[in-house]
Amino acid sequence: MAQSKQDSPSGSLLIYCAIFVAALLAGFLYIGRTGFAQQIDNYFYDYCFRQYEPPKWNLSSIILAIDEKTLREFNGIRGDRRALAAGLEAVKDAHTRAVAIDVILSDPSPKGSPDDAILETALSHTHNLVLACDYNGRWEYPIPRFRRYAAAIGEVHTVPNDDAVSRGLQLIKRSPADNDERRALALEAYRVSRNTSILISPDDIQVGDVIIPAPYAFRYNMRIRYVPPSMGGIPKVSIADLVENPSLASKFEGKVVFAGMSAQDAVRDRWMTPYSDSMPLPGVEMHANIYETIANRLFLVDAPLTEVALVLLLVIAAGVIWRYTSGLTATLLSGVVIVLAHVFPYLLFTRRLIVPYMSEIVPTWLAIMAGASWQYLYVRRRLRRSEAERGRYQQAMHFVTHEMRTPLTAIQGSSELITRYPSMPDAKRKQINELIVSESKRLGRMIEVFLNVERLSAGQMELKHDVITVSELVESCYLRARPLAERKQISLVIEELPPEHVRGDRELMEYAFYNLLTNAIKYSPPETTVRVFGQVEDGRIRVAVQDQGIGMDQKEVRRIFEKFYRTRRAEQSGEAGTGIGLSIVEQIVTQHGGSIDVVSSPGKGSCFTLVVPAFVLPEDKTPQSKASA
Ligand code: ADP
Repeated sequence: MAQSKQDSPSGSLLIYCAIFVAALLAGFLYIGRTGFAQQIDNYFYDYCFRQYEPPKWNLSSIILAIDEKTLREFNGIRGDRRALAAGLEAVKDAHTRAVAIDVILSDPSPKGSPDDAILETALSHTHNLVLACDYNGRWEYPIPRFRRYAAAIGEVHTVPNDDAVSRGLQLIKRSPADNDERRALALEAYRVSRNTSILISPDDIQVGDVIIPAPYAFRYNMRIRYVPPSMGGIPKVSIADLVENPSLASKFEGKVVFAGMSAQDAVRDRWMTPYSDSMPLPGVEMHANIYETIANRLFLVDAPLTEVALVLLLVIAAGVIWRYTSGLTATLLSGVVIVLAHVFPYLLFTRRLIVPYMSEIVPTWLAIMAGASWQYLYVRRRLRRSEAERGRYQQAMHFVTHEMRTPLTAIQGSSELITRYPSMPDAKRKQINELIVSESKRLGRMIEVFLNVERLSAGQMELKHDVITVSELVESCYLRARPLAERKQISLVIEELPPEHVRGDRELMEYAFYNLLTNAIKYSPPETTVRVFGQVEDGRIRVAVQDQGIGMDQKEVRRIFEKFYRTRRAEQSGEAGTGIGLSIVEQIVTQHGGSIDVVSSPGKGSCFTLVVPAFVLPEDKTPQSKASA
C-alpha cells in the first residue's frame, strides 16, 4: 500500500529535528538570555561559590584597617590621613612586599593642617608603594607630593553587577576623556610586590609568570574568587591596635598590605559578594581578594564553547530518547538528562569553568517537553488512525461477505427448489437454471475483482491486455446499473461517446466505471439525471459521469480516494457504503496509466471523469503508414 506523505518516516524525521532546533534556539538564544534568566544564573553562580570552596589557598596579603576604633582615636574621618600615616610608620620595618593604599588622595588637606606633611613622611618610608586613582569622568590622581613616592598607581573604580553583587572586575580600564589606561590597584600591587612587569595580549594578561584569562573580548574582565569565610577571610589589623601594640607589626612580615577604610559607617565603597548575606565587604578587602585571586591563580573562566557543546549534547540526547524509546523508559532517561543538565554547570564550576545555568537547562527542558509532546500527539494520532482503519476494514469485510451472501442465497434457494420439485415444468426449471448460472457468474466476478485488486496492489498481478471500446465499457455498466437508477427514478442519459479503444483489463475497467456510475446514482436524490459523456483530448479518452447529487467540498474531494473515507453527507444519506470503492478505482486507473478528475460542489452535484490513454489499433495505423509510404 502506498503511504500517505505525512506518514513517511523521512518527512516526519525532518519535522522532528526542526522541533528540536526550535527548542534549542528558543531556549539558548532567547529565554536563556533574558534578564530574568541572567538573574537566576547569578543566584546559581553564588550558590556554587558557597557550596564549593577551593581547597588550596596560600594567603599573602593583610589588611591595614582604618576601623571604628581607629577613627575614634584619630578624630573621626578627618583624621584618616594621620591614621594612615601612623599605620604605615608602625609597619615600616616589617619588610612588607608592597603596600597598596585604597584611600583617594587627590585633594590636599585644609590649609594649615599638618596631616599631608605627616602622611608624606610616612609614604616616603614605604617600600613598593601603590597609590589609588579613581575615575570621575577622568582619572583623579593623588596630588604630586604623594604621587612622587608611588611605585605604581592603580585604579579603584569598581562597577558591580546589575544586582549590586561584585562578581568580577575589569582589570584594565581606559578613560575615554584622555585615552589613558589604568590597571586595577590589586594587579599593580601584585606586579610591584613581585617586581615584575605586565604583558597584555588580546587573550590574556600576563603578570610575571601568572597568566590571567581576562581576554580583551570580555573587556579584560576577571572573576573574583573571594577567600571563603570558612578560612576567616583575609587577616586584618586595626591601625589603633597596631599603635597600641607595635608587636603586631610582625604579622605584616613579607606580606602585601592593603590599607584602607573598614569602618562600616565611614566606608563609601562597600560591595556585596557571592558570600555576603547581609554584611557588605569594604573596598579595601575587595582589592585584597582580587590580589589573592591572582596570587593563588584561582581563575574562573567563561567557557562559551563548552556551553554550546553541552547544550547541543543534552538537546540531542533528549531528541534521541523520545525518538527511539517511549513510556516509562523515555521518562526515566529524560529524568537522567535533566539531572545532568542541572549538575553539569556545578561540576564545571568545580573545574573552574563557568557556563550560564539557564541557557543550558532551558533548552534541555524545552527539548524534553517537545519530545514528549511529539510522541504523545504524533504517535498517539497514528495509533488512533490505524485503529480507525482497522475498524473500517472490519466493516468492509462485513460488507463484502454480506454482498456475496445475496447471490449465494439466490443460488442455494434455486437449487433447493429444483431438488424439492422434480416434476417442475420445463419452462420454470429453465428459468431457475438461468438464474443460478447468472448469480454464480456474478459471485465469481465479485470474488475475482476483490482478489485481483488485492493482488494488483500487492504487485502480484499482471494486467490483462484486452482491447475494448468506450461504448462497450459504458454499455455493460449501464445495463447493470439501470435497475438501481430506475428504483430511484433517476434518468440515466448516455450521450455521445468517442469511438476510440482502451487497452487494459476489461474486468477491472468495468469495475472502476461501474463504481463511478453507481456512486452517482447512490449519492443523488430521486428524479434527477445522471449524464455520461466522453471525448478524446491529446490522445487521452475522457469519460465523465455527472450527477445532480449531494456533492462535496474541496477538502472532502481531496480525501475521497483514501481507503475507508466517507463524507459526512454520504454517511447521512443513508446509503450503504464502505469508502473502499474509490480507493480501488484509483488503483485500477493508475495501473492503466490514467487518472480521475473530480469536480464537485456541495448540494449541486459532482462530475467524475475517468482519463485513460487511447489505444490505437494496428489496422487503424495501416492506412496512415500506407499513405506516408
Ligand atoms: P462508498 O462505499 O462510501 O460509496 P467510495 O470509495 O465509492 O465508497 O466513495 C468514497 C466517498 O466519496 C463516498 O462515501 C462519498 O462520500 C464520496 N462520493 C463518491 N462519489 C460521490 C458522488 N458521486 N457524489 C458525492 N459523493 C461521492
